[in-house]
Amino acid sequence: MSKTPDDVPEAAGDPTGRLDRALVQLAPVKRALVRASGRAAARVRSCDGCPAKCCRAGLNSMKITRIEAEALRRRLVGPDLAPLVPEILRRAEAEVARRGLKDGPSATYDCPLLSPTGRCLVHGPAQPAGCLTFRPVPDGGCDHDLPLFHRKEPEIARAERAAWGRLAPVLSIPEALLRLFRR
Ligand code: SF4
Ligand code: SF4
Repeated sequence: MSKTPDDVPEAAGDPTGRLDRALVQLAPVKRALVRASGRAAARVRSCDGCPAKCCRAGLNSMKITRIEAEALRRRLVGPDLAPLVPEILRRAEAEVARRGLKDGPSATYDCPLLSPTGRCLVHGPAQPAGCLTFRPVPDGGCDHDLPLFHRKEPEIARAERAAWGRLAPVLSIPEALLRLFRR
């Protein structure tokens, strides 16, 4: 079996390999964002020691594309994270219900991929582009690097079209995970 460049398992139900090829397209985009994130951490400050406020209700209203959700799914079925998936989906269900995510287009939520110790379970190239471009800034706070995010959006859209021929609406992370694992 072939692997994507990030060495994640192939999807079941991808007989033509379109998803694999789309994820190969997506991988360098994410790697570039990971590198940019590392450079920003070195230049400004790292997230170490922060309780990840940006991943919690009040601040986090992250929405992700379908192809990014597929990258997350493949990361989650890896042997280190697969045992955690039932608990992640339980948290996702609870957040969808608690925050009214289906009805609230900009509702904030606790990300189900945040570990109890405040660490992103998918830290690295599987993280959505929105997460990889949110970071500490020199004024002491944190902010979205929107210019970088917008520069990468067309490449992400190209990968999504390569997979499904069209763009799907973006979804919150809890909704996206539930659709993928419970479809
Ligand atoms: S981006 Fe800011 S809020 Fe989010 S984990 Fe890093 S330091 Fe904390
Ligand atoms: S995927 Fe990771 S970085 Fe993004 S909101 Fe969830 S826990 Fe935070």
